[in-house]
Amino acid sequence: MTAPVRIVFLGGLGEIGRNCAIVEQDDRLIILDCGLMFPDAEMLGIDLVLPDFTWLRENAHRVEACIITHGHEDHMGGLSYLLRDLSFPIYGSHLTLGLARNRIEEAGLLHRTELIPVVDGERRRIGPFDCEFIPVTHSVPHGFATAFHTPQGVILHSGDFKIDLTPVDGRVTDLARIGALAAGPGIRLLLSDSTNAEEPGHTASEITVGKVLRNLFAEHAGKRIITACFASHIHRVQQIADAAVANGRVVATLGRSMAKNVALARQMGLLTIPDASLVDIERIGDHDPRRVCVISTGSQGEPMSALSLMAAGENKWLKVGDGDTIIISAHAIPGNEYSVNKVIDGLYRLGAEVVHSGLASVHVTGHAKSEELKTLLSLAQPANFIPVHGEFRHLTHHARLAIEMGVPENNVLLAEDGDVIQLSDDGIDFVASVPAGYLYVDGIVGDVGHGVLRDRRVLSEEGVIVVVVTVDVKSGELLARPEIITKGWVFAPEAEALLEEARQRVVDTLEQAANEGSSDIETLKRHVRQAVGRFVNEKTKRRPMIVPVVMEA
Ligand SMILES: [Zn+2]
Ligand SMILES: [Zn+2]
Repeated sequence: MTAPVRIVFLGGLGEIGRNCAIVEQDDRLIILDCGLMFPDAEMLGIDLVLPDFTWLRENAHRVEACIITHGHEDHMGGLSYLLRDLSFPIYGSHLTLGLARNRIEEAGLLHRTELIPVVDGERRRIGPFDCEFIPVTHSVPHGFATAFHTPQGVILHSGDFKIDLTPVDGRVTDLARIGALAAGPGIRLLLSDSTNAEEPGHTASEITVGKVLRNLFAEHAGKRIITACFASHIHRVQQIADAAVANGRVVATLGRSMAKNVALARQMGLLTIPDASLVDIERIGDHDPRRVCVISTGSQGEPMSALSLMAAGENKWLKVGDGDTIIISAHAIPGNEYSVNKVIDGLYRLGAEVVHSGLASVHVTGHAKSEELKTLLSLAQPANFIPVHGEFRHLTHHARLAIEMGVPENNVLLAEDGDVIQLSDDGIDFVASVPAGYLYVDGIVGDVGHGVLRDRRVLSEEGVIVVVVTVDVKSGELLARPEIITKGWVFAPEAEALLEEARQRVVDTLEQAANEGSSDIETLKRHVRQAVGRFVNEKTKRRPMIVPVVMEA
């Protein structure tokens, strides 16, 4: 009998974001990605969401290393939090590590890790793990699929990928190697990106965006052109810069992450912009606006980003007006639509022309659509399959695709965050579960609990009523008129009668409580909360947060 191999899913199965899985072999652990998720509109005041690292902390002594498949935040944004508690080396491509390094350095945690670059096609031992790094195309360069050669056979994890046969840098998804693995040892288990499993057909190649951009630059020759895209999308930046330079424009970057990533990618030889064509944003005023192209961050409408500030007329370097064409070369990530629409509206208000993905093909996705997913399934011929990276609907569709492609139904597992699956001589199965709830981060404070979020939701939707009463320490009798302060329930100056009535209810309740002999603070608070809650609901059909404050004198 061969020892089983386990996989623990801490995130990314049931949501787009906070991708994190752990492979367990010979009692050692290797982490595959450690990402964050951006909050949705319901998560008031939350900056980001992380995987629950409890299980990893409890097993810290068994952690061998972490592999980062590519340089997106949903795959590496959790590192600067996990490294506070754990210390381990990180493997990835040069670019991925370059992008990760910035964040870890900012968090002051570089000393807790060692960044170890691996190259395309490399196979290396990391502790007991025999790992192979297979090139894939995606919306950030130099991403990997990872093959784990285990005693239970090859486990292939696709990473985020698409099958772009004509990528900007010529580095294609290594389908031949995947085919060879399938033919050779065979692929025992495939874990594959489900993001676009519901989308029919094939994704368009990244180079199609280049053609559209060149045409747009020609059409808008008389305008200043400002573009926005993801700062990590180096190939998109390349194509924007190419279109600009071909049209005799200089290029300036705007936004901190854009400037950093452009510098990093140029230094690594992954981005080619002639020195003479690159100018500092501070000197942009020296140039004829019709000979300028700005490449900016903020394509997701992030509140403090360069593009949002532009739309609000508050950008330090650029005042947008009717001489400008803005090209937003991205799709809004689900949850960001509202912010992006607000930015587009603001830009129109200032007189600018805005070209976005709803109007022209200025963006293509980085995730394989169903025909590409089928291509991978037919090449890999996996004995077992688990869809990863997606909301439950995406995982479900991907599982169906796999069954359609001939993977036996019993060998397809719809796993979710917190599931532990085991690959043994008997096949694949669920064997345990570990904590995998959302870890909310607000500012630099680690954990914001569900209770805090619930409070914020009530406060934002219903308002708050604070009731201050002063009682005699022994008898519990009221010593002064109760004070009622409210925000977000009724506008106090216009509701004096209502507030007076509420005060009277508090007086009655406390008198009754005193008669019954109740004098301890918690009991009095409960009486006040119930009485005011009932009153408010009766009179206004609302449920604001009620905060009783009982002071003893
Ligand atoms: Zn990605
Ligand atoms: Zn991703």
